[in-house]
This record gives sequence, structure tokens and C-alpha cells, in this order.
Amino acid sequence: MSSANSKNLLTSVQFLKGIGEKRAERLKEVGVETVLDLLYYFPRRYLDRSHITRIKDLREDETVTVVGKVQFFGVKHGKKSRFVLVLFDGTGTLSCIWFHRVQFWAKLFERNETLAISGKVGRFGRDFQILHPDFDRISDAGGQEFLNTGRIIPLYPSSEALGKVGLDSRGFRRVLKQALHAYADNIEETLPQPLLERQELLDLKSAVMNVHFPEERRVLARARIRLKFDELFYLELMLAYRKRSMEVARKGIEFLKVGDRTRALIESLPYELTAAQKKVIREIRDDMKDDSPMNRLIQGDVGSGKTVVALVAMMMALENGYQAALMAPTEILAEQHYFGIRELLEPLNVKIVLLVGGQRKKVREAALQAIQSGEAEIVIGTHALIQEAVEYQRLGLAIIDEQHRFGVMQRVGLQKKGQTPDVLVMTATPIPRTLSLTLYGDLDVSTIDELPPGRKPIKTVWRSNKKRNEIYRFVKERIAQGEQAYVIFPLIEESEKVDLQAAVENYEALKQGLFKECNIGLLHGRMKSGEKEQVMSEFKAGNLHLMVSTTVIEVGVNIPNATVMVVENAERFGLPQLHQLRGRVGRGSKASYCFLVAKYPISQDARTRLETLSATNDGFKIAEVDLRLRGPGEFFGTKQSGMPELRIADLVKDTALLLKARDEAFDLAKGDHEILDLDNASVRVHFFKNYRDKFELSRVG
Ligand code: ADP
Ligand code: MG
Repeated sequence: MSSANSKNLLTSVQFLKGIGEKRAERLKEVGVETVLDLLYYFPRRYLDRSHITRIKDLREDETVTVVGKVQFFGVKHGKKSRFVLVLFDGTGTLSCIWFHRVQFWAKLFERNETLAISGKVGRFGRDFQILHPDFDRISDAGGQEFLNTGRIIPLYPSSEALGKVGLDSRGFRRVLKQALHAYADNIEETLPQPLLERQELLDLKSAVMNVHFPEERRVLARARIRLKFDELFYLELMLAYRKRSMEVARKGIEFLKVGDRTRALIESLPYELTAAQKKVIREIRDDMKDDSPMNRLIQGDVGSGKTVVALVAMMMALENGYQAALMAPTEILAEQHYFGIRELLEPLNVKIVLLVGGQRKKVREAALQAIQSGEAEIVIGTHALIQEAVEYQRLGLAIIDEQHRFGVMQRVGLQKKGQTPDVLVMTATPIPRTLSLTLYGDLDVSTIDELPPGRKPIKTVWRSNKKRNEIYRFVKERIAQGEQAYVIFPLIEESEKVDLQAAVENYEALKQGLFKECNIGLLHGRMKSGEKEQVMSEFKAGNLHLMVSTTVIEVGVNIPNATVMVVENAERFGLPQLHQLRGRVGRGSKASYCFLVAKYPISQDARTRLETLSATNDGFKIAEVDLRLRGPGEFFGTKQSGMPELRIADLVKDTALLLKARDEAFDLAKGDHEILDLDNASVRVHFFKNYRDKFELSRVG
């Protein structure tokens, strides 16, 4: 692409007619600065004849789009002022009602203009009405005439965004028409011709034009596929390069010896490894023997036995004269790993140290010293492991447990503590395959798809908190049988103080009341590390019958004699969190129970979550439902995942396309290095703008 053209597409939108300086400022807020940005500001949906309902055919509770002329509008005063607009479409009238920002709406409309109104139909007496509808002006598109033609009208941001951007759909259509007219010829193809042919993709220029002003449905569909493909392709390309930069650019360690100590460890285990564990260990061993650095994810449902797999890998590192480090997201979990692993290693004479935040100075210094001198062969801890003060003598294997709790940066942080160490990350949050291809697209994935034998599914029910006493009586019965139980209270950051207080008060109430004769412990994140350790080991030893805890218990904790869990305010928890929590029971051979206690009223989503948990123990099924409820954004956005935002592609719905894009991207990455020369083409720059930062951010070395 010539530089003259590149400049053109990168012209500020300010110079388009009807935009100007002020609007340009506001458009910047939605990420539109250049003409190119504008062309990639896609319609959120489309309107065509087949989508429109006649007012006389409306039915209550349906979500519809109606097109008609504004017959009347005005503010109605009363107990609550409201803005009312009446729409007439030739078959009847429909009232649209807004309760907020009444004056704002009052200035917005004109009589007789044509609007498309969308929303859920309600009823007021004999009249239909829609509360706070989404609307679009379509007068520019020929108004009523458009009903008789087959035209498809693009609708841009929703009415809410209107205030922010200062342009409504009609405004967007106007500037886009102009922008396409002046600049469409500068859009050049970015994908190689053979790829376009293989995937039967529309060329880029036609795709951009048709996504805004589609000639017909079929072309629109193809345009959208092309643009989705681009997003997914570049995303996967980024991952492909990230992976390559880890594998090829630098030479890793060859762990050639697999010898006596590893074999001795496996033989000394109190159980036989499952076939799935063995398979994953083989995959790890092949990676470790190889001279390119390992970057592998172990995915396995709660309780599938990931820790011991990690331990075997650590042993292989030790056997080759290297140190291994295991990083866990919480102190409780780090401590538990430390004690559990120390026990398993007892017969093997391995020096292992713990490094967490709350340690006494003397203990900490001894640990740091041992790590630096190489005396410590295995180091277990929290993110304390990646602090500056920590120096490893010869870190050869870095393992991150419950990796979804960490960001990419922390993974890299541990990695950087060694010279291209092998890296193993573990997660118990099962995610649908398409998402793992993307979230973990730069890793090789091993799945432990089998639980150790003898596990019984956890019987799960959800109940209203009116049934609390019945449930607690059941808990007492189990305790009388020599089993142990957890009671979990929610604790979220936003209401931490109140939550903590509730947990403590409830603990006191249970202790004084129903469980007077039992030994009952309290565990929460605000306790000192020594105190937590104390409570956990008392519980583990069986001296405590009941553990009242906040969600600090969520990850990893492993006490097989605990068979009952009661989750209070279960309606406040997310699905993966409940699944993780529940995974604290059902870890031995006895039947286990989980009671989800909900406080009414609960939302429809909460009900779905509770019903899902009650219906299945399968982490993957739970993940699918979660994805449906929350959308993929959650998996990416909040978790510092280092993923760019997708505008048009949908990781859930566009699975098939994702797989194709991934194949093409990984193929291309094998040979072509030029494509990363980002400043070559402006459109490429546009795509990569998002991706490049993420790429650089997580690149190692
Ligand atoms: P997770 O995958 O959730 O991290 P853990 O590694 O904590 O699971 O293992 C859960 C429990 O299963 C532990 O008590 C562990 O000792 C036990 N376990 C692991 N592997 C096996 C096996 N092959 N047979 C029986 N028990 C096992
Ligand atoms: Mg674990």
C-alpha cells in the first residue's frame, strides 16, 4: 500500500462534513479518530422489512421493532413525570415512554418524522406501550417508502450512546456515506489472494462497503464473515507469533535425565496415577526433553489431581540439577501445597521452602538465602516468588497454579526469574474449547479429563434460606458421623466490611447456637498468615468439625474428610466460583453434599446458576452456561488476559470461523516474518494497533 493512500485513511474524522472539532472530540471517546476508525465502526444491527412488526400484530412481552411516524409527543406531569411519544404505522398506535431525562427527550423529536422503535411490548389498559425503547431515525432512508423496497438500514449505537457520541444512527449513516464515497477506493486488500480464495472470502473493500450499506442480505452476511475473519485471524496471528517468540527465538533447557528420583516418587505415591495423569506427564516430559522452552497449560476439572502432575514435573527438573518453583494465588493454597508436597517428598530427601507475604523476617531471610544458594530445590509460594528481592540460583521450571487468577504479566514475571525456564500453568476453570484456543492460544494444552477413581458426584441442591435450620440439622448429623463441613459466606471487595462482619456474626451465632457442642473454626482473608495456618491444620487434623469461611477457601484446599458444604447467599456467587467452592468437598470416597442457600428475591440469572449447579458436576458444562450468561467479555476483560477487544466476531458463535482463522494464521506464522513489520500497511496498522501493544506487553525477553 502506498504511503499516500495510508495517509488518506488516517485523516482525522474532523475533516469530514458534519463532524468538526467538537464532535471529533466526542467520537474519540468511542475510539473513532481517523477515517479508518470510522469505517470500522460497525452497525450494531440492521433493519429490514422482514424484521418489522405491524402495530396491530403486537403481542405483550414480545421484543419487537416497529416503524412508524411520530403522531404526538409531550411531557406528562404526575407523580412521576414522563415523556410520551405516540407512533402511528397505519395499522395502529403505540406509546413510547421515558421516565428519565424527560426534558432531554422532549427536545429530540419532530412530528411526522419516521422512527424505528425497538423494545419489549407492555400493556397499559387496552393500549400497547414500550418503556424506554431503543429508537432510530430513519427519515433519511426514505421513511415509509423503505417498507416497500427491500432496503436494509444499518443502525449504529443505541440511543443511550447518543448523548455521548453526539451522533445518532442517522448522523452516522450520513458521515459514513460521505466517508465511503471519498475514501473507499483507498481500502486495499490485506490478506494474501490464495487465502481469500481458499476461505472464499469477500475482498476487503466490498466487505467494508457492504457492512455499512448492504446491497442485499446475502452480501451483508458475506461482508460480516470477512470482517469477523479478519479479527479472528489477526488475533490468532498475534498468538502464533507470541508462541513462536517463545519457542524459536530462544533456546531452552533440555532436561535429558529422567531417572531414579522421579521413578521413586511415582512409586512412593499413596495411589496409582490415573491414565489421564500419565498421559499428561508424558506430554510434559516430551516438552522438557526438547530444547525449546515448554509453555504448557494443564487443564483439569476441580479435583482431577493436577498437583501431583506438577510435582512429577518438578522432580524431573531437580534431577537435571535445576530448581523448580510453584506459584499459587493465595497464602492458604501455597501453604497447603507446601505441606502436601513436603509430605509426599518425605522419603526422597528434597529440600523445599515456602515463601509467602506474611512470614516472619527470620523465616523469610532463611528462605531467600536457600533459594539464592540453590540449597532449596523446590520453592513454593504466592506472588512473593516474583518480588525483586528473590534470586534463584538456577530456576529451570516455573509452575503457576490456578493461572486464571493471575495475569499474563505475573506468568512472565516468574518466567523471567530464570534463564528461559520451562513453564507449566494449571487451571481448574474449564473453559470451552474455542475460548481456550484464544485465551491460551499461545500455549500447548494438556487436559486431565478423568477424575481419580471412587469419586462420587456431589449431591447438590439449592434452597431458600427459610430452610436453613433443616439444612444445618443435616450438617450436624454428618458431623456426628465423624465427617466435617464447611459453611461459606460471600465476601466481595465492594462490600468487604459488611460481608466480613456478617461472616463473623454468623460464626458466633452458629457457635453459640446450633453447633454449641461442636468445635468450630473461622477463616477469612484478614487473618494473619500464622492464624490461618493454625485453623487450617486444626481442621485438617480433625480437631475442628465445622469451618466457617469466606471465599478464601475457594481454590485448591484439599481435606478429604470434609463432606458437606453450605454456601450462604449463594445467589451472590458466580458459576465458576460456586463450582470451585463445591470442589472442596467430594474429595474422598464418601458421599458428599452441597447446599446452596439463596436469599430471595433472586434474579433469573441467579436461578439459572443455582439450577445448573444442582443439575451437573461437569465443569465444562458449567463453563458453557456461564459463557452464555455472561458472554465472552468477562473471560477477557477483567482478568488482565491481555486480549484485544473484538468488535464484530463472537467467540461463542463464530467457533467454526475461529478454527479456520487459527489454521491460516498459524500456517502463515510458520514462514512469513514480514507481516510483523507493522508499519507496512495502514490497514494492517489499524488491525494491529489493538493487538501490537498486547503482543509487546507479553513478549518475553
Ligand atoms: P486439583 O486438580 O483440583 O488441583 P489436587 O491435585 O488437589 O486436585 O488433587 C485432589 C485430590 O486427589 C488430592 O487429595 C490428591 O491426593 C488426590 N489424587 C490425585 N491423584 C490421584 C490418583 N491418581 N488417585 C487417587 N487420588 C488422587
Ligand atoms: Mg489444585
